[in-house]
Amino acid sequence: MAARPAPYLDELNPAQRAAVEALDGPVLMLAGAGTGKTKALTARIVHLLNTGRAQPNEILSVTFTNKAAREMKERVGRMLGQAVEGMPWLGTFHAICVKLLRRHAELVGLKSNFTILDTDDQIRLLKQLIAANNIDDKRWPARQLAGIIDHWKNRAWTPENVPGAEAGAFNGRGIELYTQYQTRLRELNATDFGDLLLHMVTIFQQHDDVLAQYRRWFKYILVDEYQDTNVAQYLWLRLLAGGHKNICCVGDDDQSIYGWRGAEVGNILRFEKDFPGAQVVRLEQNYRSTPHILAAASNVISGNEGRLGKTLWTESEHGEKVRLIGHWDGEEEARWIGEEIEAMQSGTRGMRPFDLDDIAILVRASHQMRAFEDRFLTIGLPYRVIGGPRFYERMEIRDAMAYFRVVVSPTDDLAFERIVNTPKRGLGDKAQQKIQMAARSNGVPLVEGARILLDEKGLGGKGAKELALLIDGIDRWGRMAGDPDLTHMELAEIILDESGYTAMWQNDKTPEAPGRLENLKELVKALEQFENLAGFLEHVALIMDNDKGDDGAKVSIMTLHAAKGLEFPAVFLPGWEDGLFPSQRSMDETGLKGLEEERRLAYVGITRAEEICTISFAGNRRVFGQWQSQLPSRFIDELPEEHVEVLTPPGLYGGGYGAAAPVQSGIETRASEANVYNSPGWKRMQSRSSARPVSQPRETRNTVIDLDAVSAHTVGERVFHQKFGYGAIIGIEGDKLEVDFEKAGVKKVVARFVTGADD
Ligand code: ATP
Ligand code: MG
Repeated sequence: MAARPAPYLDELNPAQRAAVEALDGPVLMLAGAGTGKTKALTARIVHLLNTGRAQPNEILSVTFTNKAAREMKERVGRMLGQAVEGMPWLGTFHAICVKLLRRHAELVGLKSNFTILDTDDQIRLLKQLIAANNIDDKRWPARQLAGIIDHWKNRAWTPENVPGAEAGAFNGRGIELYTQYQTRLRELNATDFGDLLLHMVTIFQQHDDVLAQYRRWFKYILVDEYQDTNVAQYLWLRLLAGGHKNICCVGDDDQSIYGWRGAEVGNILRFEKDFPGAQVVRLEQNYRSTPHILAAASNVISGNEGRLGKTLWTESEHGEKVRLIGHWDGEEEARWIGEEIEAMQSGTRGMRPFDLDDIAILVRASHQMRAFEDRFLTIGLPYRVIGGPRFYERMEIRDAMAYFRVVVSPTDDLAFERIVNTPKRGLGDKAQQKIQMAARSNGVPLVEGARILLDEKGLGGKGAKELALLIDGIDRWGRMAGDPDLTHMELAEIILDESGYTAMWQNDKTPEAPGRLENLKELVKALEQFENLAGFLEHVALIMDNDKGDDGAKVSIMTLHAAKGLEFPAVFLPGWEDGLFPSQRSMDETGLKGLEEERRLAYVGITRAEEICTISFAGNRRVFGQWQSQLPSRFIDELPEEHVEVLTPPGLYGGGYGAAAPVQSGIETRASEANVYNSPGWKRMQSRSSARPVSQPRETRNTVIDLDAVSAHTVGERVFHQKFGYGAIIGIEGDKLEVDFEKAGVKKVVARFVTGADD
């Protein structure tokens, strides 16, 4: 096929163009933020299609989020000047692997309609296993085991090849429990997220014919955000690209922010070794941000050691300096940002007017979102939360979906467990155990176990009657799912009505009940976009963001992690306080690894901004219901002064803060205003002196009180205290613990101020 004209190539600079036109063999694009890596990657797809090198379905392209995948598809269409007929293999690692695994499930002992468990289900399952093994789940909580197993899966270790060095994990029972967990998942015909990749790696490693088939099929492989791939993802890519080696990876070592989830920045550094002869393209021109923003980001990241190091320059106009502002407390910060956004809409201080879609608030921790959500609801400022606490994670939504899951796949025991006594059917723990036993002894799923139990009259009274109704219901709804005259939206409503689930909330007198009913309606609405319930359930299992749906302009709120790869004309970065950002945990760690990852996160945050970047911090913050004093983030000290403008908070010098002062809680808490404004960074900013910023180690004085952490402790247990860090319990006296802290030495602390170290 003769190549059509390629206007998309004219939009690229020479280095980008080189990366796009080098179609054969391995290519690595290693460059800083905003240099057009994603743009070049997209152009490469277009170029492959335009030159007839590959059909849309022969290109495998991996993005970091579903949102990024959608956007890339749209851009390919735009650049190509025509709609692309499906790009079925453009998506996240998970989305691509789930499709592949459905085709080859039997090779790892699953059926093609396997369910994908979410974290909740996973934890429930692990709890059961821990109990079945007579392990004390107080000392050895399921969450901890889940973390260990995830870690192993991220490293592509099946139970058989977890290395010996890990044998001590989870009190020496980790590997054994991992084995049992995998067996149980197979029995349930289920996978967790980590399995999607792990199973595919196993299949490719053990079945040469399957691997060969896909090596032929995927003629070209492209990967965005390569610095955040974990070992399993890396192995999977290396297996697939091993034949033709037409693989193009793009990334930025300075933006590696998923180390805590097993990502290995080493993957990007190793690329040239893995693929000898790889072309390495470096991009240096930044097209996104103003020089002030770029300088601020570059200065912060220069504090990290062992970087590849990159030069970034831009032709864009100077624009505004990075703005820095301190507030009395978190509420005040939210109020100010709300007002500032409203002002920005109409244009203030000589700025151009901004649309709400142009503005984003990027937080370090998702609990920071609530203050903004509350404030914006109050003032009627439209916002969306991206990747935050999701609609699909709400209790009523999860219940409803469990009903759908049982109907779509009656072997889904976890879903059945969730709904069997919701609403209350008089089927308490005892009855449920009987169902479990009937299922176990007959080697059948719970639904069948329940049927057997009823047939054998093993259950009596109200419970038996209700259970029979439920089982009948499941059978009937299952048949209805095949009825061509009934839409799946109608079916969903029928299921929720006939099961008594809707009525349960209608009769509920709590203030949340009306909202829950609204959500259920919303859920049925959401089904419309899908062909059937099964398709919908799969979608929900995979979505990472909840920003679909309505169209009006909105401010975006998300975590820094979720903001990767995105850009906004105006960005707010609130909560730059030691203990929040960088996180307390990273500050307490020995070594700099955690702190350096936080610094990369700061770099990611600042570089999302095109024109206006506003960093803020509060002097007081309420954490778990307690006030605590905060110091400005050490990263603020690393901002280059000549590129920063310090804003004065409203009322600071007009005495307006008296009214907003938080209530004292009694425990070491509230900072005096002086604490905040005496910090070296703040003083330096205020005086606008031209001295070079010096980063000073600071004493950590934050006290965070975790009210949920009131639980039994044992001598020898490793614990974490927000102030003193990690240590081991050496004595217990009532509610006081004597702890030998690694850094702070032996101290007596109140039990409820410590948490299990591995929680
Ligand atoms: P990140 O590291 O944050 O993911 P990136 O390197 O992927 O950034 P892109 O998102 O691809 O960068 O590009 C940043 C911005 O610069 C986009 O708005 C893009 O359209 C623009 N851009 C990229 N290359 C060019 C170019 N050659 N000419 C004009 N604009 C460009
Ligand atoms: Mg990008």
